[in-house]
Amino acid sequence: MTSVVAIVGRPNVGKSTLFNILTGSKAALVADFSGLTRDRQYGTVKNSSTVLIDTGGISAESNDISKAVKNQAEAAIEEADILFFLVDGMNGLLPLDEDIAASLRKTNKKIYLLVNKIDGIKQESSMGEFNKLGFKDLINFSAAHNRGIQDIKEVLEEFEESADLPQDLEEDVKISIIGRPNAGKSTLVNKLIGKDRVLVSSESGTTRDSIEVPLEWKGKNLTLVDTAGMRRKRSITEGTEKSSVSQSVEAIRKAHVVILVLDSSETIVDQDIHLLGLSLALGRPVIIAANKLDLLSSKQKEDLKENIERKLRFAEFLEIKFISAKDGRGVNMLINLAEKAYLSSVKDLQTPLLNRILKAALQKQPPPMSGRFRPKMRYAHAGSKNPPSIIIHGNNLKIMPESYRKFLENFFRQRLNLGSTPLVIRYREGENPYKDNPNILTERQKKKRKRLTTLVKKRNK
Ligand code: GDP
Repeated sequence: MTSVVAIVGRPNVGKSTLFNILTGSKAALVADFSGLTRDRQYGTVKNSSTVLIDTGGISAESNDISKAVKNQAEAAIEEADILFFLVDGMNGLLPLDEDIAASLRKTNKKIYLLVNKIDGIKQESSMGEFNKLGFKDLINFSAAHNRGIQDIKEVLEEFEESADLPQDLEEDVKISIIGRPNAGKSTLVNKLIGKDRVLVSSESGTTRDSIEVPLEWKGKNLTLVDTAGMRRKRSITEGTEKSSVSQSVEAIRKAHVVILVLDSSETIVDQDIHLLGLSLALGRPVIIAANKLDLLSSKQKEDLKENIERKLRFAEFLEIKFISAKDGRGVNMLINLAEKAYLSSVKDLQTPLLNRILKAALQKQPPPMSGRFRPKMRYAHAGSKNPPSIIIHGNNLKIMPESYRKFLENFFRQRLNLGSTPLVIRYREGENPYKDNPNILTERQKKKRKRLTTLVKKRNK
């Protein structure tokens, strides 16, 4: 499962600086939930599919700062698997830190205490007081002086290695249906299951909780997850706001594939884009269902298509399907697309094929020089599945610009025919670990591989 790591801590301890370092400041998929939850920023860790949440943004002018910090910590705890609890080594331990520590301790989540601004002997000697907090895993670092960052990255890599599928693949394919209130999610679910299981109303936010609905579709068993979606800022109190965000995160994580329902009778808004960014950050294939086709003239349909393509340019590989949940047009095709996307995301990517594609990519566009160095890519092999990742080994890869990764991503995606599935490209420096033994799999990996192969065969029948 993709890990979600939240950075928590009182204001000015360096949360955003650390977030920027770990995501790479130009992170492609930073979903800033501004407007909805002003105090959270979502991104993915550079070269990885781990989602990082920056819970910063609480200003020191806030009326009741300790309450604000506490709320923020609670929300982060709800959304994340792992917590990076940041404190300031220069200022030492403050009462607010102890408050936060107390609320974090109540959870079963893995907590790392990260002590920032440790760049001199003086600060190091003050470490003792932080030990008092009683957290086992403690890392000293300095965001400003780039010290100790490698230790933090190594912690993140550990999670990456143990990343797993959202659930056992022998289960039914799970499709989460997300979108803004009133986009037509419940209508779509009802259409699919052929009866009114989900309450539909023209008032925003009637469907409160996410529900799981089993669906037998053309002889296959699927599970649909219908969410209440995210409410418009105006119409929500803080409580529902939080739960609807984490509910969307949860629904996306539960799913193998996400269907994002857009309301074609309205324009695309930030919320749509955030939901998409978050789904992709979590590595899920996304199918865009532009709903309420019955309300559009063909001219309007063309305009809307253009509008979607322009606004979602960062995800141009996604499939957009116009549907009418009301009269059923396009709905069949939508589920076919979702299934196809799922199968792509668990496809076996054979090493020889990946290397042929890599060679073609390098011929088409060699990596750019960086000063005197030209990064050298030696070979590629598959990493995890769902989302599929490709690991490329070589030298000087760390200096590669983000635009080149994007180029490779698109090149591989097209050649592998991956459709709406996000693809993660990771770089590794150094020797080929498979040089002497091309096929070292752990027992667990062997079992998983067997299960996947059977499943893919079964579904392709
Ligand atoms: P949800 O909040 O996303 O679950 O949205 P609902 O399914 O409750 O739908 C909100 C409103 O949009 C309801 O009045 C539906 O009847 C209407 N609606 C949903 N799908 C369509 C559609 O394809 N065409 C039209 N014209 N209206 C739709």
